[in-house]
Amino acid sequence: MNAHDVAARAATTWISGPVLRARPEGAFLLREAVTVGEQRLLGEVIRLARDEITVQVYEDTSGLRPGTLVNGSGRLLSVRLGPGILGHIFDGLLRPIGVAPGEAGRDPWVLPGMRDEAPAQFWLTPRVRVGDAIGPGDVVADVSVGVDASLSGSGEALSGLPQRCLVPPDLPAGQVIEIAAAGSYREDQPICRVRDAQGGEHGIALSHRWPVRIPRPVAQRLPSDEPMLTGQRILDCLFPIARGGTAAIPGGFGTGKTVLLETVAKWCDADVIVYVGCGERGNELAGLLAEFGELEDPRSGRLLLERTVVIANTSNMPVSAREASIYTGITVAEYFRDQGLNVTLMADSTSRWAEALREVSGRLGELPGEGGYPAYLSSRLADFYERAARVRTLGGANGSVSVLGAVSPPSGDFSEPVTNHTRRYVGCLWALDVRRAQARFYPAIQPLTSYSVSAASLARWWHSAGCTRWEALRRRFLTLLEDEARLERMARIIGRDAMPARQRLILLCAQLVNQAFLRQSAFSDIDRYATPQRQAVMMRLLGSFIEAAEGLLEANVPPERIAEAPIFRALMRMGEEIPDGDWERFSELDRELTATARRLREEVSGDE
Ligand code: ADP
Ligand code: MG
Repeated sequence: MNAHDVAARAATTWISGPVLRARPEGAFLLREAVTVGEQRLLGEVIRLARDEITVQVYEDTSGLRPGTLVNGSGRLLSVRLGPGILGHIFDGLLRPIGVAPGEAGRDPWVLPGMRDEAPAQFWLTPRVRVGDAIGPGDVVADVSVGVDASLSGSGEALSGLPQRCLVPPDLPAGQVIEIAAAGSYREDQPICRVRDAQGGEHGIALSHRWPVRIPRPVAQRLPSDEPMLTGQRILDCLFPIARGGTAAIPGGFGTGKTVLLETVAKWCDADVIVYVGCGERGNELAGLLAEFGELEDPRSGRLLLERTVVIANTSNMPVSAREASIYTGITVAEYFRDQGLNVTLMADSTSRWAEALREVSGRLGELPGEGGYPAYLSSRLADFYERAARVRTLGGANGSVSVLGAVSPPSGDFSEPVTNHTRRYVGCLWALDVRRAQARFYPAIQPLTSYSVSAASLARWWHSAGCTRWEALRRRFLTLLEDEARLERMARIIGRDAMPARQRLILLCAQLVNQAFLRQSAFSDIDRYATPQRQAVMMRLLGSFIEAAEGLLEANVPPERIAEAPIFRALMRMGEEIPDGDWERFSELDRELTATARRLREEVSGDE
């Protein structure tokens, strides 16, 4: 990471798409950031030999010629992390993209050699004094965004998430010898000086650079027993993800990956969202930005965009820049995690990222593995997913990065390499099912092939949130869904009517769990997200229904009689009709259920 005294240079000898080779003068580092030609296109040294370097260029290389100069920077491919990132859209190397939020319909586009914009101003409140001892990860100052010092003398945050300026992880510990007064500062201005034990002096600014491929250090990785709530019942109750956990969302074209990721981005209980749009359609991202610029965060009442960072390498941008974008994304996520925040990163889609890896590998003439992907596909996926964690930060706070990655297997075949390797590194699989999607059953998550490794460790959290039977009900629902799959096959052969009453009842209960609980429209005002309280109430009600129905079966009430009762229909519709907080209406359903069970029992004993 230390700059050379003299930056190395190289003359291009060979170019193929985003890859070029050059003859070096001076020493380059592996993974060093370079600029190419007069346009100063950004690239990275991906291979080093004695008399040749190989560079991956992250921008359109049309017009480059043999002889074009490659200039070293002396540091690894890095991004500048600072308080100005929140609420903005960037390319895969964290350069701002000139699409204002709300400008829907216009595709984001990176121009060749586009440079950082002038840094913005931030309001700073110092948290250390001259003479204080501080080390990596310690808080230097509180920072707020969007405050014009001349308007707000108090320095109170007018908008945006409160942020912190920390001692960068790669600085030595030392003593504060200078600290800026409260006021408005530019991101790159030094605001603090520290003298280390050897007498060396270091300046700290609001922003600092960090190499994207190196995980930011933490004090400790913590076990996770707290859920990352998504507001989607099928996820939170059947396949929950823990804070700091990972989930893959494989699904064929049109099965709802993008809608699911966006829905979770809108309603999940993270402090910061990092949304990496990787090789997907540009207009989708522009639409997302427009929507986030208008939607209010239900918890803070602020605009969702204010706590979101969008990293875009849509299908109309240079393919090679995709390769870096997911590492850039996770580096940004770690930066906010280090401030003691809970961050959720979504990548849509990691398959497009893997295709970029494959293309570059092909240009390098590497031996292709399965599906044409390079042999290191698996380790690169691991490098990404393994950076998700719940941690104690260097400064002693708790923070987390949770990662959700969409996978788009060609023709929906989950046995292909990207899906297969991804499975090895994630804790949750939310498998999207073409048949469910075709039936417009959303979210189209297939309950039999999906899984979560965190369910057992999250039961205690649900217990303390008041849902004491969460684990038992979850198992009951899953068993019902498994039985349903088996019985559906049988019903197709012998017909439903020929099946015993017990089996018809299982099908009825499974239908209710599917329709009333698992189905949840992303476009319904009432149901687009469910609080854990509402999920717990619905889960309990369905549990009571299943118990009552089993009791009625014992009393010889045919399942069809139960299905005809108004309570059955009312339960089917409760998600769409009863909003959060309307607990009285849920209690009414509960009472109606008891009354119906009594009435049906009496009717049958009267018939006899
Ligand atoms: P993918 O990204 O997998 O190709 P999309 O997320 O774009 O698929 O979804 C395709 C369409 O399916 C959407 O335009 C929408 O009409 C419908 N859809 C997907 N998920 C949901 C959902 N949760 N609720 C309602 N409709 C959905
Ligand atoms: Mg999509």
